[in-house]
Amino acid sequence: MRFEFATAARIVFGAGTVREVAPAARQMGERALLVVGLPPERAAPLMADLKAAGIACSSLAVEAEPTLELVRQGVRLAREERCDLVISIGGGSAIDAGKAIAALVSASGEPLDYLEVIGKGRSLRAPSAPFIAVPTTSGTGSEVTRNAVLASPEHRVKASLRSPFMLPRLAVVDPELTLGLPPAVTASTGLDALTQLIEPYVSIRANPMTDTFSVEGMRRAAGALLRACLNGRDLEARTDMALASLLGGLALANAGLGAVHGFAAPLGGMFAAPHGAVCAALLPHVMEVNIRALGARAPHSQPLGRYQTVARILTGEPNASAEDGFQWVSQICRQLQIPPLGSYGIPGQDIPALVELASQTSSMKGNPIALTPDELREILTRALS
Ligand SMILES: [Zn+2]
Repeated sequence: MRFEFATAARIVFGAGTVREVAPAARQMGERALLVVGLPPERAAPLMADLKAAGIACSSLAVEAEPTLELVRQGVRLAREERCDLVISIGGGSAIDAGKAIAALVSASGEPLDYLEVIGKGRSLRAPSAPFIAVPTTSGTGSEVTRNAVLASPEHRVKASLRSPFMLPRLAVVDPELTLGLPPAVTASTGLDALTQLIEPYVSIRANPMTDTFSVEGMRRAAGALLRACLNGRDLEARTDMALASLLGGLALANAGLGAVHGFAAPLGGMFAAPHGAVCAALLPHVMEVNIRALGARAPHSQPLGRYQTVARILTGEPNASAEDGFQWVSQICRQLQIPPLGSYGIPGQDIPALVELASQTSSMKGNPIALTPDELREILTRALS
């Protein structure tokens, strides 16, 4: 057995912990670029705390999933304002944008030099500026990962900027920040969190440390997802979802993902569909096809047994079968009214191109079994309607 595990230098979790950001920031710098997701009002108390701590703040608004152009703009602003620290408060979009800006502000050249797939994929040579991540959704786990997903609208793709230097200096996960999230965002980001616990658990790169995080995260998400959607003010359910999301980030950053995220990359690049909603629409179909393919081609394999464990955790039934797991996920997707991928204007004629692009992604290579082009087409066709 050999594995590695890396994460943010420090993680602080708990209700009210957002108040600890300003004193910690004071130890890292004097001039902060504050990268703020929607709605911007949510960042106001933090900005007041930073100013009271004597930290000068410039802010950058992130209103959608980040593009290369937004990151260039942020780097320019950080340099003009001589920022020595970057703080993101928001969902995965704001955190990924801040993470990329912190990395590039201390690098020469331009974002495409370092981007995977469409760029030159050069390695970052210098450490990032100190970066603090404060998530306000429970979904991406980006506060503990080493990559930022950036969109290039002219290439119609999304690609990652990735480096061990990009692991945040501090992640502050305060479940109280998620109390005001609307039910539809809670549902799609929560199902992304669940996906990011299941995919690393059945991944070919799973290891005993990530397994521990996945199992605990799935247990918490299974009990809390519906409750957090039905009553957004339920702090106990919000706390479990925030923890599930964090644990998913720890697992995926060290064990990789699978076919859901393999499809999410090209879909998110080609269509204006939010990442969480895309993952939610794909998850039950990927589970079903993976379980069937494993049953036919690797009936005694470890991942099939792991899907049975997933089912037992999700349903709470000690005798549940692997199939009961995707039935549970399908049922919760119906209850939470997850829209099919077709509702984002994804036409059936794009299926062959999407299958081709998805099969080349790094996430697809972590899938527990190599799926055939026919199986990939089947997943996408079913997720569209
Ligand atoms: Zn995801």
